[in-house]
Amino acid sequence: MNIKISLPDGSVREYPVGVTGMEIAKSISEGLARVSLAIEVNGELRDLSRPIDKDSSIKIMTWNDAGGKYAFWHSSAHLMAEALEALYPGVKFGIGPPIENGFYYDVDLGGRPFGDDDLAAVENKVKELAKRESTFARRDVSKKEALDYFTKKGDEYKIELINGLEDGSITFYQQGNFTDLCKGPHIPHTGFIKAVKLLNVAGAYWRGDEKNKMLTRIYGITFPKQKELEEYLFIQEEAKKRDHRKLGKELELFTFSEKVGMGLPLWLPKGTLLRERLEQFMRRAQVKAGYDPVVTPHIGGKSLYVTSGHYEKYGKDSFQPIHTPDEGEEFLLKPMNCPHHCEIYKSKPRSYRDLPIRLAEFGTVYRYEQSGELHGLTRVRGFTQDDAHIFCRPEQVKAEFVKVIDLVLHVFKSLGFENYTAQVSLRDRTNKAKYIGEDHLWDKAEREIQEAADERGLKTVAVEGEAAFYGPKLDFMVRDALGRSWQLGTIQVDYNLPERFELEYVGSDNQKHRPVMIHRAPFGSLERFVAVLIEHCAGNFPLWLSPDQIAVLPISERFNDYGQLVIDKLKELDIRGFLDDRDEKIGRKIRDAEVQKVPYMLIVGERESAEGKVSVRRHGKGDLGSLLLKEFVDQFRIEAVTP
Ligand SMILES: [Zn+2]
Ligand SMILES: [Zn+2]
Repeated sequence: MNIKISLPDGSVREYPVGVTGMEIAKSISEGLARVSLAIEVNGELRDLSRPIDKDSSIKIMTWNDAGGKYAFWHSSAHLMAEALEALYPGVKFGIGPPIENGFYYDVDLGGRPFGDDDLAAVENKVKELAKRESTFARRDVSKKEALDYFTKKGDEYKIELINGLEDGSITFYQQGNFTDLCKGPHIPHTGFIKAVKLLNVAGAYWRGDEKNKMLTRIYGITFPKQKELEEYLFIQEEAKKRDHRKLGKELELFTFSEKVGMGLPLWLPKGTLLRERLEQFMRRAQVKAGYDPVVTPHIGGKSLYVTSGHYEKYGKDSFQPIHTPDEGEEFLLKPMNCPHHCEIYKSKPRSYRDLPIRLAEFGTVYRYEQSGELHGLTRVRGFTQDDAHIFCRPEQVKAEFVKVIDLVLHVFKSLGFENYTAQVSLRDRTNKAKYIGEDHLWDKAEREIQEAADERGLKTVAVEGEAAFYGPKLDFMVRDALGRSWQLGTIQVDYNLPERFELEYVGSDNQKHRPVMIHRAPFGSLERFVAVLIEHCAGNFPLWLSPDQIAVLPISERFNDYGQLVIDKLKELDIRGFLDDRDEKIGRKIRDAEVQKVPYMLIVGERESAEGKVSVRRHGKGDLGSLLLKEFVDQFRIEAVTP
């Protein structure tokens, strides 16, 4: 008897009942079979060796699929466990899952210390075992059999796990000399694991409970090719060098103070310059796009947030209300700018002719984050959004989306983010009751967001069920120079706040209507955006954005006067920079300016001062020869134009 197997390209092939994933892969091509790691059968990730006994749709998983990596790293965790058991007989095992990058295993080494040398020894053992090409064999076991096995082995952690499982649902996997309690799936054999790096060791309480014993968590990562491991390690190193917390300190952009409070960044003069340049850039783009700037306070009455619904979300789980001494008023630190903007909209009657109204504010908001969640500028407790709210008629939604997409793409292009995709978040069609807003408006907005994205040539994926309860949205995912993904620039339709604030406009029919609200913030938060930008460009900001654009470096104190003349002239022309008139060797001055990542260094000495010239050095590029100061300025100004 045959079964029908549907492939991802839509084709259907017939195979005998009991065909395995590996047999299907081979029937497609030997090349595919060589790189197949697992198979998805009707949405379930499984071993390639398991028979398929009914009509199914399948996808063969290779290293390029998340499912392939999952099986690969999960199998690697088992292999590391085998290596540990070979080197440390009697070691007990907790859990060993794959993670976003690699895998770990929590182990009880019976109190043995475990350091870097041990890590290297285990790594070597893993490499040795991998070469044996041991298959991962799956076996159904009864609960009793499973308990007997681990009781005999003396592993109380596995016994505890088995006790929480249903009889009939338990499987073992064995490779080489190691057997584990495991649901799978696994790769065909250990020989696929060609590159291994055990990364580090940490303590972890059994089951995450501090009342339990502290186990040793060993992290590792593996790859099918040595080259891929090398690339991964290179990127890790590079990411460390580019860490915005490290560069933020070195470039004197921002700092934190315990007294001011955790997660509340202090912008230093150079960071402030950078931030102000970004704000000016956005302000200009927004004026062109028809936005009106507004300013609103950092706090708002409690009832404002009760109306908006934010009190429910941010109330008791966030910063607590501020009370006035006499009047008994209650204020909340602003967690969102939208309610304030709704009140601005309501400040006078609106006609359909007034719409769209686009209110923009660099609005600072405060949200409580647990101290353990805080991270540099990417997770903070106070941050400024380049926020705006567009109030429009339903038939204007598409045109507004197109305009906002243009603005977001302008930001990406100007700041060197070339690699991005977008996600259209739609309703869950099977559960429409979950969402606020009229059915036909949702259908229309969802369709139009997609059309707007298509018109602008965006690569999109549409995901059902990802929309907020109050409206569909478009999210941008940006890849930085190290290939890491960041979500930047959400455009969100909102049917909820206009309802809650009873926003209205008088239509051409003289009747009252509800406007649609669109939230959008191309940078998102300036803090997080600056962090992403620092790591993306490694602190080498575009010239128009650099806090210091030039450094004037006299080769000795004799030329400080000429240096002063040069810097004064440049400052008059709105060029930002400084004169390094320290009593230091020129080599040292150049090195320091390089570390500060100053784009242009202007070296001045005997010849330069006599001829009214500067010797130009570009950061990362080296010597560009000597130019008349005026020639340099002309070239500089062309390059430094704000986009
Ligand atoms: Zn497992
Ligand atoms: Zn908003």
